[in-house]
Amino acid sequence: MNPDALFPKGVSVVASNRVSSLRLALPNKGRLSRDTRALLADAGYDLTAVSERSLRVRVDDELEVLFVRAQDIPELIQDGLADVGVTGWDLVVESERPLVELLDLGFGRCRLVVATTQDDSATSAMQLRPGSRVATSFPNSARRFFETKRLDMRLVDVSGAAEAAPYLGIADVIVDLTSSGETLRANGLRELETITESTARLVCSKSQAERAEVKALALALESVLRARTQRYLMANVPVRSLERVKAVLPGLNGPTVASVAGDSGFAAIAAVVPEKDVRKTISSLRTLGCVGILVTRIERLVQ
Ligand code: AMP
Repeated sequence: MNPDALFPKGVSVVASNRVSSLRLALPNKGRLSRDTRALLADAGYDLTAVSERSLRVRVDDELEVLFVRAQDIPELIQDGLADVGVTGWDLVVESERPLVELLDLGFGRCRLVVATTQDDSATSAMQLRPGSRVATSFPNSARRFFETKRLDMRLVDVSGAAEAAPYLGIADVIVDLTSSGETLRANGLRELETITESTARLVCSKSQAERAEVKALALALESVLRARTQRYLMANVPVRSLERVKAVLPGLNGPTVASVAGDSGFAAIAAVVPEKDVRKTISSLRTLGCVGILVTRIERLVQ
């Protein structure tokens, strides 16, 4: 990829100091950009003061961030202009670049699907009329899907809003992203099959995957993602109930138990509990006579 294609005139990318720091490519707009920035902030890389219009930011000695279009990130990494990046898996697959997935970030969930009009009798891709026109901005993924099924379709490249193509009479079928399905329904379309399940991923080229800085970034982000789904719970437990309390608190490696000063008849426990189980756990602990129950968020959880 020619770096000049990504940045306005006068912004030099290749000529900057590379030192041994990591160059991270992030989406420059939209939901994916906001969720990624929030994740990085939670991992200690604060980009909140960075304008959405910034192109390049040096976070510290170890990290430089490039803000580019999400669809350019796979190529940018494969060509060595960025070491690592965050983008949608749908775009990685579409790029046909052999990138390494370091981490599934869980957000930006969507699916690339084949959809047809409500009045079409087809209930699967195999039942689509041979030679149907397929509007898509994912030509590589669509071509591969239909080739695998040995279906002869005519692809119509559109740059976006493929959902409007059947209505406009330029296609019979579409291959496009969907999340809630509302846009498909609103355009009189019906999903037939999923081609790619996607979420945002941290990716790098094969040559970067074993680099210590890349692994450290993946570990930092992973520890934040894991912590978001867990809570730290503390409570004072009647010593007589301790064994039963241990049974309701599996924690990471079982609860930590400490004695309480004086002969109070209580022990202090602490454990990591999945967020989804907190309410049920509190209720069980109260039944067992626990007092002073405290639940806090965890910033990072490294395993
Ligand atoms: P939906 O929620 O199914 O109505 O999707 C709304 C629109 O957002 C559709 O046009 C999709 O192409 C697009 N979309 C949904 N999820 C994503 C995503 N994770 N990344 C990019 N585009 C998306």
